[in-house]
Amino acid sequence: MAKQVMLKFTDVARDMPEKRPPDLRRTDFDEIYAEYADAKAAEQSSRCSQCGVPYCQTHCPLHNNIPDWLRLTAEGRLQEAYEISQATNTFPEICGRICPQDRLCEGNCVIEQSGHGTVTIGSIEKYITDTAWEQGWVKPAAPREERAESVGIIGAGPGGLAAADMLRRAGVQVTIYDRYDRAGGLLTYGIPGFKLEKDVVERRNAQLAEGGVTFELNCDVGVDLSFGAIRGKHDAVIIATGVYKTREIEAPGVGGFGVERAIDFLTASNRKSFGDSVDEFENGRLNAAGKKVVVIGGGDTAMDCVRTSIRQGAKSVRCLYRRDRENMPGSQREVQNAEEEGVEFVWLSAPVAFEGTEKVTGVKMTRMRLGQPDASGRRAPEPEPGSETSIPADLVIKALGYDPEDLPVMFGEPGLAVTRWGTLRVDHRNMMTSVDGVFAAGDIVRGASLVVWAIRDGRDVADHMHAYLRAKTPKKQAVAA
Ligand SMILES: Cc1cc2nc3c(=O)[nH]c(=O)nc-3n(C[C@H](O)[C@H](O)[C@H](O)COP(=O)(O)OP(=O)(O)OC[C@H]3O[C@@H](n4cnc5c(N)ncnc54)[C@H](O)[C@@H]3O)c2cc1C
Ligand code: SF4
Repeated sequence: MAKQVMLKFTDVARDMPEKRPPDLRRTDFDEIYAEYADAKAAEQSSRCSQCGVPYCQTHCPLHNNIPDWLRLTAEGRLQEAYEISQATNTFPEICGRICPQDRLCEGNCVIEQSGHGTVTIGSIEKYITDTAWEQGWVKPAAPREERAESVGIIGAGPGGLAAADMLRRAGVQVTIYDRYDRAGGLLTYGIPGFKLEKDVVERRNAQLAEGGVTFELNCDVGVDLSFGAIRGKHDAVIIATGVYKTREIEAPGVGGFGVERAIDFLTASNRKSFGDSVDEFENGRLNAAGKKVVVIGGGDTAMDCVRTSIRQGAKSVRCLYRRDRENMPGSQREVQNAEEEGVEFVWLSAPVAFEGTEKVTGVKMTRMRLGQPDASGRRAPEPEPGSETSIPADLVIKALGYDPEDLPVMFGEPGLAVTRWGTLRVDHRNMMTSVDGVFAAGDIVRGASLVVWAIRDGRDVADHMHAYLRAKTPKKQAVAA
């Protein structure tokens, strides 16, 4: 019975309380959910065979000690499970919610590979840390001594926040600069609330502030404050600015009203969930309610856009992708979720023009077929001649991925070397860029990646930076706490 209730409300209940039936108030929901979660976590944890070849652990970017915290959870020793889990992961409850586990830990569980269904590692990680928050076991940084060294971090996404946490715990003075009004990066304004509740991110931001991290928000570095000024203020700097340049479609009508960028659509939706007033949502431009929505792309951002459109009350939602289901970059789990929610996937199709004069009314598209493998080994899509058709649309969302912005120009620092993809070039032995004392982490180094990799980078860069600071300023005095 409890399981049915959980499954019935899992999609809408977490961040959309107004959509819960009036007879199920939050307290009722939480009680049922908590009861279910306790039993489920213990049951799932006890399924771990303690196989001795923990592929789950090696395929987790943080090398979380999964078998140990599963065993402790099965034994009901949750606080110890939490201690082990948080020793390698700065935000376990966030990874538990949004890691693509089917490609990482769970996809490599030996029980899964023997055909018996994976241990639900991500859900258990979330459960352990949510319980730790409820029980007051999650503590802000309380360094044994305050150090005089100061670090400036540009970008308050998971990479920058993970680095800040590690550095503060070592007593370093940390200031984070971010162009947005709230910290969290894509955790706050990219990933939708039905996958990652915003209060989960907010409590982490608050905890960092409580631990002594200073946030300078609404500060667009390169516009409001120069990169040089930040370098001048701090002993070392981390760039963790992510990747925000939307890949564009070259087709007639692409600049018209109603042909919108995924990041704008998702940011507007997330802002609304904070209760902000968002003009472009209010005037309908970035609001899918009642509309025929077409999303273009096959990655996780596209999946977030189709599922957000459904939740906003779109009339219909179609997803156009130029390859087939087997060759799409997004998670198969997400596609399945989207299909169950009513999204129609139009595989092997690509837009050739956007129709409409004052605003978009349709998408002209062509069928694609898969040709020979390209340099990446994937079969390259090519148009099928004579296959063009039109489908109606009054909101088109472009979700083709992101590239880095031109940081050397934005920061007025031509000495910052970049790769041919525009990501920052770092020395992988110490994560330092080509500019002395300037380190980099997260998507701005890897290209668009995953939260768990940004956390890993943030933790690693903090270690390297700590070594750099100690070598550079061995005689700097620790300041009184
Ligand atoms: C829609 C969407 C959904 C995703 N879903 C998932 C998912 O489900 N699971 C998953 O693992 N990953 C997901 N990802 C990827 C994941 O969000 C990123 O890999 C991760 O957030 C990268 O972290 P980061 O710290 O490098 O950068 P970001 O999270 O992008 O943070 C960078 C921060 O830098 C700030 N910044 C940039 N330039 C400046 C400047 N000049 N001055 C000041 N501040 C600046 C930005 O405002 C931002 O806050 C998703 C990405 C998108 C776009
Ligand atoms: S951090 Fe991600 S990959 Fe690692 S155990 Fe947790 S859910 Fe799995």
